Amino acid sequence: MAVTSRTLQLIRAMRAAVGGFADNAVRDLTAQWVAAWDRLAPTWLQAVDVLVAWAVAHGRWPTPVELARMGPVQQALADTDETLDTLGAATTATVVTAAGLAIAATAAAEPDVIASQLPAAYRQNTRERVAEQILPSALDVIRTRVTQAITAQTRPLSADASAAIRRELVRGVELGTNPTETARRTLAAVQGRFEGGAARATNIARTETLDAYRTASRYAHDANADVLEGWVWLATVTGKSAPRTCPSCWAMHATVHDLTEAGPLDHQSGRCVRAPKVKPWRALGINLNEPAGSIPDRQAAFDALTDQQQTAVLGTARLALLRAGRIDWSDLPVRRDNPAWRPSYVPRPLGDLNRIADQRR
Ligand SMILES: [Zn+2]
Repeated sequence: MAVTSRTLQLIRAMRAAVGGFADNAVRDLTAQWVAAWDRLAPTWLQAVDVLVAWAVAHGRWPTPVELARMGPVQQALADTDETLDTLGAATTATVVTAAGLAIAATAAAEPDVIASQLPAAYRQNTRERVAEQILPSALDVIRTRVTQAITAQTRPLSADASAAIRRELVRGVELGTNPTETARRTLAAVQGRFEGGAARATNIARTETLDAYRTASRYAHDANADVLEGWVWLATVTGKSAPRTCPSCWAMHATVHDLTEAGPLDHQSGRCVRAPKVKPWRALGINLNEPAGSIPDRQAAFDALTDQQQTAVLGTARLALLRAGRIDWSDLPVRRDNPAWRPSYVPRPLGDLNRIADQRR
């Protein structure tokens, strides 16, 4: 167990770089979607005026067939579809770029991360050997796979946003007595659906960039199985953002996993990292006494939080169960399969925890 403070520092730097790529992609995408709506807004303003004037004159919301006859509405929809197609393609490109940067940064950092766990005299050599095992051709394969995964996520984006806007128009809003207010609410409904596309795009950017890092990291570790005995799930359990870490990630912290196991399989927007765990020095033929590892102890880190922070992490009920010893940390996460994404560990619902606690009585 020689994950040193230097190892943690290198992992944090790598994770920060990857987070930066994700943040840049999110910022970039947000700006693109905002600018696109600004361009569409005048067209929609006009379309909504026509639509609401019709509704006021007829005392009811138009049917889909009647909507289809309103030129300005159809024009706005056509412009929006075109814009959404462009945004969809831009989203794919932006996320693929961010993921590519994450893969490159991970591949560049892992040799140092692994070497940092060895005595100083062995580091240079190890770094070079580890780097040699990380093959450019394998990184290309990962890039291709990641691009396919991103494309699969972004492909339905524009069509889904378009359909959501159409559904909103067909459903309509309460007419009320004030046409200006009706128009405002109609426009807000359309804009809301449009921005739903942006929210999804940025979520994909964050999630896929981080997953590209995890995939590259897993590969780098697996390719160096001769010096590694597994990987450690590291959650954010120290520092000022520790109280924002969810119960599942707190529970997974410091757990050791097989090199072949994907992960850390945390939830969307998860902040957890995968630390390679070098074999004991003596198993590598290094006859030196190994220092203790520096991975923060979960219980000690949790005990260091104030009562208020502990409650913020677990909630009152979970905290009471844990303190009473009626549940264990390992009860807190549950693996969820997700047909549209990968499996992930999420906090086990309180009802299920109560059942577990009752069964142990
Ligand atoms: Zn979490």
